[in-house]
Formats: sequence, structure tokens, C-alpha cells
Amino acid sequence: MLNTIITFMLISGSLFDLIPFIDPPHWNPSWPIFKDNPQFMPVWKGYGDWCPPSQGPHGGIDFDASVITDSILAPNDFGGYSGDIYIDPLNPDPGYMMCFLESLDDDYGWGLGHLKILDPNAEQFHYPTYIYAKRPMAPAQPPTGAHIWRHVHLSWVPKLDPDPTTNLIGLFNPFDYLQAPAGYDETGFSHIPYVDNRSNYGMWFTLDQIEEPLNFPGGLSALKDFQNRIYGVVDIVARPYSHPVGSPFETRCGVRSVSHNILRQNPYNGSYNTISGDIYGARTLVSFDG
Ligand SMILES: [Zn+2]
Repeated sequence: MLNTIITFMLISGSLFDLIPFIDPPHWNPSWPIFKDNPQFMPVWKGYGDWCPPSQGPHGGIDFDASVITDSILAPNDFGGYSGDIYIDPLNPDPGYMMCFLESLDDDYGWGLGHLKILDPNAEQFHYPTYIYAKRPMAPAQPPTGAHIWRHVHLSWVPKLDPDPTTNLIGLFNPFDYLQAPAGYDETGFSHIPYVDNRSNYGMWFTLDQIEEPLNFPGGLSALKDFQNRIYGVVDIVARPYSHPVGSPFETRCGVRSVSHNILRQNPYNGSYNTISGDIYGARTLVSFDG
């Protein structure tokens, strides 16, 4: 019995050691991130966007670099340090990843991924190299091999020891820390292809646990009627998007959260009123806040 207890204590001790200590971002990455680029950067993928099944939601932001050849700037607005670089020796196609620290005491910093390997033998960016403010680093890695998108990945990462490539790290949402200009992106709801293609505004309601339109009692026409008279416990199907202003086809800025308000309609004049102070008022469907 005593042995069992000791074993248990040892196991729980080692498990406790494996739980990573996560240091929230305490400095904001600089903006913009390309040396000569305009303020508005299209985004390939935003935090929380879906990836291949092996990866799950995307843990960072991918900025489009398909037409940009200038250097990516170090994200520190102050004199900082390298938290080390990483190049996968078996797959250098995606370029290298680098972590930037505010202080050598820090365990976490902002990471940039897919930087172009200018010289694989260069040692100048290894920990703990001093990195002056907004130092031009390297262009984004051009498409090579399986690396088909030219982009740069921004995420909050631990010092690159061990290498971070075995896990997709998504500790915090970079959009919460980027000082992107006001009005950087626009949000809205996209058309949901398999429901309706004209009167659909990217959100529809269905009965609880009935998620396929054809399974709705009475079929598709009954489902459409239901949109005008919703009752009981319902599921909401929504397709929110956010795109940088001026890049309407880049709908991958990432949506931080989706909330909704339930309104009460006045049966006499048709106007809608908020249900203030009611538990059924404002609700958040999903949130990717860091
Ligand atoms: Zn990425």
C-alpha cells in the first residue's frame, strides 16, 4: 500500500512537471511586419481557422507574402534578443522559424515562421543574439517543395528549445496583441452553400441536434419557414468571416468571437426591441480570445 502511494506521488510529480508554464504575451509585435509593404496585409489564415485534420485549428496568423519580396521586420520595437532559430534538417522547405524575446529572462516570445534561409550555416540569429528594434530579418521563404504558400506565420511561442514543429502551437491569439490600424478588417456572415443561395445571409436556425437540412421535419421548405418563426431549443449554423479592407477575397483574417442578441418583436407595429437584462439577451456562440 505504501509503495502504491509513493508510486502515485512520483507519477503525479512527473506529470506536474510536464504541464507547460505558459507566459502570456507582455509586449505587442510591431506593425506592419514587412519592410516596405503597405499597412494592410492580406491574411491567408487567421487564428482558429481550420487546418488539415492532423493540425486542427490554426495556432497563429499567416500573412500573405505572395507578391511581397522585401524583408520581414523583427517584431520588437525595442532592443531585444533571439530566442533561437529552428530549421528542420529533414524538411527545410518551409524556411526557418525564429523566436524574439524582450528579455533573456523570458521563456516566451513572438515567433515568425517561414523566413527564407539565406545561409543555412549562419549563426548570427541563434540565442541569445541581440536583435535591434525592427531589424530587417529575411524575406518570406519562396514556395519550394510541399511549401506552396509564400507567407509568414506569427504566433506566441516558447524559446525554440526543443523545436516547435512537432506541435502546432496556438497559445494566444495574435490579433489580440497586434496594433493593426483601426478599420483593418471587416466582418460579416458568408452565404452557407448547402442551404439557400439567395435569401441566406450566412446564418440559419434549426431544431436542436438537427444539423442536416434534409433531416429537418418537413424538409427544406419547412426549414425555410422555421427561419421566420423560431421557437424552443435551437441550433445556430453561422459562417462568419473577416477580411482586410481592400482584400474582399481574403476572408481568413480570423473571427475573434461570434455573439448574438435576441430581440423581441412588437406584434402591433413590427418593431424589434432588445431584451435588456434578460438571460436570453446577448450571448456568445464561440470565442477565440487568447
Ligand atoms: Zn501558419
